Amino acid sequence: MLSRYTTKTPAAYPCRREPATTAGPAAATLSLMGGIPAGSPPPLTARTVRAAVCDGSGGLAPATLPLAGPATGELLLRLRCAGLCGTDLWKLRQGTARPGSVLGHEVVGVVEAIGGPIDGAVEPGDGGDGYGDRRLAPGDRVVVVHHVPCGVCPLCRDDSETMCAAFRDNLLAPGGFSELVVVRAAAARRGAFRLPPHLSDQAAVFLEPAACVLRGMRRAGLLTPEARALAVRRPVIAVLGAGSMGLLHLLVLRALVPAAAPAATPDESPLVVLSDPLAERRALALRLGADAAAAPGDAVRRAVRELSQGRGADLVFDTVGGAAPLAEALQLGRPGSAVVIFAHAAARDEPAGFPLNAFFKAERRLVATYSSAPAEQRAAYLLLAGGRLDPGPLVSHRLPLSRAAEAAGLAASHRALKLLFVPDAPTDRAGARPAAPATPSAAAPAGGPG
Ligand SMILES: [Zn+2]
Ligand SMILES: [Zn+2]
Repeated sequence: MLSRYTTKTPAAYPCRREPATTAGPAAATLSLMGGIPAGSPPPLTARTVRAAVCDGSGGLAPATLPLAGPATGELLLRLRCAGLCGTDLWKLRQGTARPGSVLGHEVVGVVEAIGGPIDGAVEPGDGGDGYGDRRLAPGDRVVVVHHVPCGVCPLCRDDSETMCAAFRDNLLAPGGFSELVVVRAAAARRGAFRLPPHLSDQAAVFLEPAACVLRGMRRAGLLTPEARALAVRRPVIAVLGAGSMGLLHLLVLRALVPAAAPAATPDESPLVVLSDPLAERRALALRLGADAAAAPGDAVRRAVRELSQGRGADLVFDTVGGAAPLAEALQLGRPGSAVVIFAHAAARDEPAGFPLNAFFKAERRLVATYSSAPAEQRAAYLLLAGGRLDPGPLVSHRLPLSRAAEAAGLAASHRALKLLFVPDAPTDRAGARPAAPATPSAAAPAGGPG
């Protein structure tokens, strides 16, 4: 029961693992910024990096791997933090991650080296906000995404960019849980966002998850001007699960309303109810601005009825995943409502189980949402950089890569809400420091600006 509603298993990210070493020309040409300042980068030859690898039995383990690069058009990042995502945990549990491979796709780092020119036209709308910014320089703090669509194929042109064949390539090598990360050329060109000084690492690391949330909201029709124009009352939105992704839905909703409707009155903002079996997560939801928080089952049905004056929710986001939460989500919605499926089902081939005729006759909609496209990534960046969205309070733990073995247990036991991997301090690497509890973020705030 607990795992049903607190394990955050968001939309899948197809992490085809890149080879640990990068073929290609040595990054001798550093013409982008006129070269790298003397003394800052290590020689751009094969090197070893400390990383957290899949251990083949559902967990992570520290390891040392070879890493070459950056090749032409690529970035080499020194890790500042990487978020452990529900998709990473799902892959570990399902055994779909190859032993020795490196997961992690929510990455903030500092540009250590640039492999030659990063070509490509400046993105439309690049007004110095960092999106598609060609002016990255060593020392810049950036957040990067791991998937970039081609932008020109029929799927991309038909608003299905996350279905694009090119999108399936994982553009981070060896992966985010590594003290050095090579960002492949497509992501260096279109998926690296320079962070302004006021944007903290622990907020910026949520760019990709927040972009996924935005995509689900857009696909559900929540963000269209037409939807707002038709609204005759405050929409009631239910979010199943108050793990980090459920709570991120709440924060994004709160960040969006003034942006989506500058003339909005308070009466147009959504009423949001979250459900979770864990009392402390319900309490956190209320502190973060939920209108109600309730346990799954009767309690959340009652809460939705009260908030909606008996109608039912207009929109339900399922951040838990699986047949049982989906059936509950459908029950919470009013006739004509939509349910957004945001999460993996726990079992790979789990079938749905709900009465089809009730679904049909009530004109319900099921909306699946998968990962995020560049437009949503840019929108998430602007919410974060503009200060309207601060998911930093969701970070509960910071764990050095050398203690990766503790991560899966912290997440599975729900002690961790959002866990960030950070590079080891030199004493951690030397093994000179006795094991200490994973650092709650409150005791050691996540790294701030540069
Ligand atoms: Zn993620
Ligand atoms: Zn495409």
